[in-house]
Amino acid sequence: MSYLSILQGMSLEQIQSVIEIMQQSSEAYMFILDLSVDTYMVAEKATKRFPFQSTVIENCSETLKSVVYPSDYERLAAELEECRSGEKDIHALEYRWLDRMGRVVWISCKGTVVTGTEGHRLLIGAVTEMGAKAKADNITGLRREARFRLDMESTLRDQPESVRYLMRIGIDNFKEINEKEGVEAGDEVLRELAECIIKTVDESVDIYRLVADEFMIADTGKGVSKEPGAVYRQIQRSIAAMAESKEYSRFYTVSAGVLETDFSGRSVEELMRYTEFALNEAKRNGRNQMVSFDRETFDVYLERLDIRKLLRQDVSHDFRGFELYYQPIVSAEDYRLVGAEALLRWKNEKFGNVSPAVFIPVLEESGLIIPVGQYVLWEAAKTCKKWKEYIPGFHINVNLSYVQLYKSDMMHDVERCIREVGLDPESLVLELTESGYIETNDRIKELFKDLKSRNIDLALDDFGTGYSNMRYLKEIDAKTVKIDRSFVVQALKNEYDYNIISHIIDMVHSLGSVVCMEGIEEKEELSKMMATKPDMIQGYYFGKPTPAGQFEKEFLQTTDSP
Ligand code: C2E
Ligand code: MG
Ligand code: MG
Repeated sequence: MSYLSILQGMSLEQIQSVIEIMQQSSEAYMFILDLSVDTYMVAEKATKRFPFQSTVIENCSETLKSVVYPSDYERLAAELEECRSGEKDIHALEYRWLDRMGRVVWISCKGTVVTGTEGHRLLIGAVTEMGAKAKADNITGLRREARFRLDMESTLRDQPESVRYLMRIGIDNFKEINEKEGVEAGDEVLRELAECIIKTVDESVDIYRLVADEFMIADTGKGVSKEPGAVYRQIQRSIAAMAESKEYSRFYTVSAGVLETDFSGRSVEELMRYTEFALNEAKRNGRNQMVSFDRETFDVYLERLDIRKLLRQDVSHDFRGFELYYQPIVSAEDYRLVGAEALLRWKNEKFGNVSPAVFIPVLEESGLIIPVGQYVLWEAAKTCKKWKEYIPGFHINVNLSYVQLYKSDMMHDVERCIREVGLDPESLVLELTESGYIETNDRIKELFKDLKSRNIDLALDDFGTGYSNMRYLKEIDAKTVKIDRSFVVQALKNEYDYNIISHIIDMVHSLGSVVCMEGIEEKEELSKMMATKPDMIQGYYFGKPTPAGQFEKEFLQTTDSP
């Protein structure tokens, strides 16, 4: 007797019971569609993933309209009509559904029409998600992301408190291996790494291969607890031993992101996001290390994303919320005003005044510094032109980010700006602010030369911090060196740094450049630092950065001209 004939002798309730039992051992979504009365009975788990209101749906044709991808609906309806009319007894169709979030999911639906005891034509079958088929990986023999998601979903539902940690592991230079040695070498590395991980952890944890070069270790409390840091170190050692045994023919390192708390009430999506963030942090911090997910760092990251979005909006609304402040620069000889540094400010409704230390890096990494840099240049040039009526030798210092140097045509922008504003080039000083060492390639050297030949001066900013040093001074051939406040503060505290500054200033002078000392706040600081012989001073003692109108009132309208 065939299964079909058994089913044919059963009532709808009996068939439902059989299906429910089978459902427990299947990942597919089993269903019964009573074609005669247009009623659909579907597995409960399908109602969680797809927008079915309940497990029994009357007026199925209508409901399917909200589950089936709109342009696939006609095809499905035609096929079901054939099953209803008796033209077809077998249904097999691959098409798309929409999940509860409205995302497209490819499904394969297979079913057979059975005539039930009441004479109704029943289509009995199962829907499988096609993406979920990729549950095992042929390269490493491990289970894949789809399997991880399913496993994690049930763990989170049934016993979230038992999860100890999730560790996401990524190869630090996988792209390079693939590019330099080919995809086969890449596959070999994946196999090797899988082997190392399997050797390291015991069978109580689950290992999955996620996308590309990433693996996930899930300790869901099935065995003896092992601290994730120890697991990671052991994996590192195991990789090193493998490399050694192969006489270092290939070497790679791995980073890891770990999530140790916060499992209850979380979705798999969130866990994926948190572990991905922690792994990226490990890579950002220099790779070959493990980073634990930290909520605070994540929130800062989210805030930066938010800031980036708001900056983008403000830039596209004609630089809404941006303003230039100006800080006086005085001659060290007689404290006469000789120029000002243009300092960018940004405020917005949500965050209020945001510090340049926060928003400038966001502008840089998003590339928005290019339009904003133009805005700064033009505003500053116009202001300087105006202020030269008060002080003919006045100069304006504008900060330039390395991103602008690399990614925009600075020479062209600067030339156009001073030409159209009518500013003489000697009045403009470009300060190179540094957040990383500038690779002074030929193009950049050419730019420095061009600027010099047009009488536009460069200033080396932040001297005494990070990458800003004497070698760099020579490379960019800067007219001015700006000694950073942090260096000045050190010099005020100890004699050693004081002597260093003093010698640096001598050296800068012997190279034919001048020094602007930044960050002088008090009279005593001024008198002490004056003995080191700077040429210019900029600091709160002579004036804080202020809006243009206030600067005019405070520092310019008190002079004799115009
Ligand atoms: P920077 O170019 O070195 O600017 C000097 C910074 O020191 C300014 O901070 C200024 O307000 C502060 N400062 C000046 N004198 C004193 C003092 O006596 N005491 C103290 N404690 N601080 C003093 P600000 O305006 O917050 O700017 C920070 C940094 O942001 C700037 O450092 C510059 O690197 C960057 N930045 C500002 N505007 C722009 C811009 O338009 N473009 C680019 N690329 N970077 C900018
Ligand atoms: Mg500066
Ligand atoms: Mg500076």
